[in-house]
This record gives sequence, structure tokens and C-alpha cells, in this order.
Amino acid sequence: MTLRLYNTLTRSKEPFAPIDPANVRMYVCGPTVYDYAHIGNARPVIVFDVLYRLFRHVYGEKHVTYVRNITDVDDKINDRAARDFPDLPLNEAIRRVTEATAAQFHADVKALGCLPPDHEPRATEHIEGMKEIIERLVAGGFAYVAEGHVLFSPAAMDAAGGPLPRYGALANRSLDEMIAGARVDVAPYKKDATDFVLWKPSKAGEPGWPSPCGIDGLGRPGWHIECSAMSRAHLGEVFDIHGGGIDLVFPHHENEIAQSTCAFGQGLMARVWMHNGFLQVEGQKMSKSLGNFVTIHQLLETETFGGRAWHGDVLRLAMLRTHYRQPIDFTVKALEEAEKALLGWRADVVPSSTVDPEAIEALSDDLNTASVVARLHGIKDPSVRAATLDFLGFGATAAEIAVHDAQVRGIARTVDDARVSSLISARLDARRRKDFAESDRIRDELAAMGIALKDGKDPATGEPVTTWEVKR
Ligand code: AMP
Ligand code: ZN
Repeated sequence: MTLRLYNTLTRSKEPFAPIDPANVRMYVCGPTVYDYAHIGNARPVIVFDVLYRLFRHVYGEKHVTYVRNITDVDDKINDRAARDFPDLPLNEAIRRVTEATAAQFHADVKALGCLPPDHEPRATEHIEGMKEIIERLVAGGFAYVAEGHVLFSPAAMDAAGGPLPRYGALANRSLDEMIAGARVDVAPYKKDATDFVLWKPSKAGEPGWPSPCGIDGLGRPGWHIECSAMSRAHLGEVFDIHGGGIDLVFPHHENEIAQSTCAFGQGLMARVWMHNGFLQVEGQKMSKSLGNFVTIHQLLETETFGGRAWHGDVLRLAMLRTHYRQPIDFTVKALEEAEKALLGWRADVVPSSTVDPEAIEALSDDLNTASVVARLHGIKDPSVRAATLDFLGFGATAAEIAVHDAQVRGIARTVDDARVSSLISARLDARRRKDFAESDRIRDELAAMGIALKDGKDPATGEPVTTWEVKR
């Protein structure tokens, strides 16, 4: 059976043949660890987990290498660290933020039934590899130093020609179009508006490493260079699959290709570029201002979405019933339907036998999980159905799915009690010292947890007291 995958680079579905069938190599851009991952971030993790499982099935478990990075250098991380731990040195605060966020991410995606990748490199572990690529790019005339920055020049890449791809080939845009569309307030040290940062200076107190290319002082890498360095370290200069969400096509993936091909003199970075479509929630783009920003953690462990908690398998099925390249509308109704289907499919506890061959065939057609889900409704043999569900990463029994919400509510209440009391006493302290901004912030934080406050006075002592209840 031939495996066919849609390649963003060629804009067509192509038969897939690995460079080395003994080692199929796949890289997927992972999270920037500064906050809870939202349900949109879960989509590439689930989609590429299914592809990983399919590759392991076709080529053998030992013959697939899956790399998904963790981005742990980023301005958003610095901001969050300074805000959450104002009394700690910034680097220590950053370590706390990135460690806690990465641990939460691991717990979230495990609950969604995703296998861990074979390697999960962190950007901060690969600074030397990034500097080496940057040095090569400057030596090759593809990048230049300006005011403590190193910038990549797409114009230099296009002038070089040879085996190199054209800059813009992945995103299907021309450099002229990009120049015409460039913003007017371009940083003064850039020669061209389309030049992008490989390295930049760090301010005092910010994370920094000795700079490459003879630049004095500490600096830090741009975002794109980290994936060129981490994929090379674990997968080599040219590998099979590179994936991520559709928003990463430009500029992130375009720039990764530019860096890697120019540094290594190859015509390709990855053979197949795969991108999942975007997820929206109840018909709307997710955004913090619309208040429909929903994290994986909230869906699994709180009553934020639809007034109840959802089992990870239910979230996974709701994701996979739409083809990965289509946009997806994440709704309470979809979760209810997914739960109902799983409860039915898992009703009989039977040993699993062989995976349904038609399911494998559908997955081999550009990962058509939508067709597999439709097919699951029609599989008559419960042990084949069980094997197929196991294969797709659904691990829970009907009983586990059925009790999940009740369990969360029972456990959540005892955990919350302590947290709520400590927040209320911190708020009373803030009010005593007349720090009303802080006291309002804590009230909002409690409101976000579903807790409504009532301020009053102790009738005996006249002291301010606060009572609370769970909003319904
Ligand atoms: P980020 O941490 O924003 O770089 O995103 C991590 C991954 O999640 C990337 O592959 C993004 O393309 C993907 N992603 C972010 N938002 C969404 C969304 N709403 N729908 C689908 N994928 C998303
Ligand atoms: Zn990347």
C-alpha cells in the first residue's frame, strides 16, 4: 500500500518514500513555554501523533525518529517571568516559568493520548549549534552583522541561485511581493525590509550567551534559527517530514528553509512539509479578548467549557473527526457527540485483535482520520474496533470516560478550597494596605476560577470578612 501525503511545498498529494526506510525522520515545531497550551496548540500535537503511529506501524517502531522541540527563549517568556516572580533574578524566574509550563504541557498531551516524541530538545541546549549555522551563513554571504545583530538576507539567497530553493517557494510568494508589502517602520539596521533576525543583543539581566561573528557582549538567537539547529542535531541536514500549524508556513518555515539550505548548500531542508488547519471555538477565532480562549488543562480538569470536564479521549476524537488540513470548529456539541460515540464503541470490554485494514488505508491517504472515524461507526467486530481504537491512541474504557467529569468535580473542590482561602486572605491583606489594584486583580483571578466573592463585616468584631461561593 502506498502512503500519500499532501506536501505544502508542491501543493499536491504525493506518494511518500522515506530517504532511509530504516530511519523515517520527522520534526514538528513545539510550544513556546510561557503559559498553558490552548486547544489550538493541541491540534498539531494530536495530528502528528497519528502520523507517528502510522509510520511506526508501516516501518517498524525502531525505524522512526520523531523530534518536537520546546522553545524556551522568547520575549513572552521573559515578560511572564518578570511578572510572576518579580523578586527573583530574571534567569531564575525564567527557569521556574519554563519548567512549570513544560511539565503542564507534558501532562496535557499525555492525557490527550499522545506518545512522547523520541527527542524533545530545548532551544537553550542548542545555542552552540545555532551559532555555528549563523557563522556559516555570514561566511557564505547570506547574512551580515549590523549593530550587534546578525541578519539573514533573502535577496542574497536569491542572488546565489544554484541548488538553493527560491526564497518564498514554500509560502508561494515572490520576494518582490514581500518587499512591496513590507511594513514602513523597518528597523534601521536592516539593509532590506525582508531581512530577518538570526541573533540579537540581550539587555542587561536578560538571558544571553556570548555572541557569534565577533560581536561584543551577550546576545540571544532569533526564533527561526532554533529549529534549523535542533532538526539538524537530531535528524541531519535533510530529513523526511517537517510539520506544524498552517500559521507557521510564513515566515517561520520559509525562514527555516532559507537558513538550513544556505548553511548546508542543499536544495532541501525537509522533503515533505505538512501543515494542520486552524481551530476555532464555537464559530469564533480564539482570543483572550473575546473570552473564548480555552486551554487543554481547562477542558480536562475544570468546568470552563460546557460547564463540565471532558476526558482526553473525547477531546482527541473531536479533533480527529475532521481532516487535519480543514479548519475545525471546536464546540460543546462536537464533544458531546464524540463522548457518546466512544461510550458506545467501548461498551464491551473485549481483547483487541487486528487493526481494521481499511482504517490503515484511510490513514495512508493523507491521514484521512475523518474517514476512519466514520468507518468506526460501521465496524461490527468489537475486537477489531478495540484494536483500531488502541492503534489511534484511544486508551480509556467506557467507565473511565463516564466517571471523568464527576471525578474532576469531586477532586477539584477539595484542591480549590485551599487555593481560594489563600487568595482571599491575600486580597484582604491588599485591601488593608489599600493596594486596590492588587485586590481587584485577585478578585478577577478568582472570578476566572468560577468563584464569586461577597465582602462584609464580622458582626462581633467589625473586621472585614469575605465569603465566597461557586458561580453556577
Ligand atoms: P505557538 O506556541 O503559538 O508557536 O504554537 C504551537 C503550535 O500550535 C504551532 O504548530 C501552531 O501552528 C499551532 N497552533 C496555534 N494556534 C492554533 C490554532 N488555533 N489552531 C491550530 N493550530 C494552532
Ligand atoms: Zn520551528
